[in-house]
Amino acid sequence: QSKFNAQSSVSFFDPIMQEQVNKVVELENDLRHALDQKQLQLYFQPQYDQNRSITGCEALIRWVHPTKGLISPAEFIPLAESSDLILLIGDFVISTACQKLAAWQAEAFTANWTLAINISARQFQCKDFVERVMQHLSDAQAPANRLKLELTESLLIDYTDEAVAKMSQLKKVGVHFSLDDFGTGFSSLSYLKKLPFDQIKVDKAFIHDLINNHSDEAIIRSVLAMGKAFDMNVIAEGVETEQQLQKLKELGCYFYQGFYFSKPMSDQQLFSWIDQLSAD
Ligand code: C2E
Ligand code: MG
Ligand code: MG
Ligand code: MG
Repeated sequence: QSKFNAQSSVSFFDPIMQEQVNKVVELENDLRHALDQKQLQLYFQPQYDQNRSITGCEALIRWVHPTKGLISPAEFIPLAESSDLILLIGDFVISTACQKLAAWQAEAFTANWTLAINISARQFQCKDFVERVMQHLSDAQAPANRLKLELTESLLIDYTDEAVAKMSQLKKVGVHFSLDDFGTGFSSLSYLKKLPFDQIKVDKAFIHDLINNHSDEAIIRSVLAMGKAFDMNVIAEGVETEQQLQKLKELGCYFYQGFYFSKPMSDQQLFSWIDQLSAD
């Protein structure tokens, strides 16, 4: 008797699973309306250099749900990615970011800030991705050389030639590229030399235990060496303590993002925060 026969008596109807399916369907329907109802918002988390000067921000999407409260992108972005919804959301993010960059450029205090946005695979792989970005930049009259696109490794596997072509076109007008969540994927490093990234973003998984964990330190050292070799700057995400910051500096990492400096802020919070800083 194989174990497969024994399993054939398992019922196909599982009320718990059914409930989960219902929840996903409900969430997806809600998400479709969320854009029109302006429930999706960009939050902004500042990025810093070694002098604690702000170099810019990363835009992180939030869903302000009328009954469920603030929903994290980890919950709805994967859902959106399973359909064309991610394209609508992606367009919203790019256009909102371009408007923000145009507004920042008009103020002396923020004029040099960059804005990084997260791009998902399906969005980047769209035939007209480059045209869309160009269109949003020109609609908002935003400075292209302040826009940074964060791509992940998984997005680039099996897709290297097209990726290089798209990145090169956007780099011609000044757009920057950052390789997000670096170190968490399984792809070979050989793609790194082909892809024209300006920045490598070390995943926060390697920062968390940095003080006690020698392998994390070794990984960060090698990422920094690679950054040097490929002429890409290296930014650490998820910096939460002074100790981590000091260690990173010691290792030669000069760009940072994390709760130690600032949490992601709503548009309103960002406004008053900038007001305060520029008044000092
Ligand atoms: P990510 O791009 O790697 O973003 C970094 C995540 O780390 C953010 O989570 C941020 O809030 C969080 N974080 C920042 N500093 C710290 C820290 O010091 N400690 C810890 N523990 N976490 C920190 P968030 O905002 O929940 O976003 C999660 C992921 O959702 C993002 O990871 C990104 O992959 C995706 N995402 C966010 N916004 C967008 C978007 O507009 N479009 C797409 N396609 N994906 C997005
Ligand atoms: Mg990111
Ligand atoms: Mg990241
Ligand atoms: Mg991440």
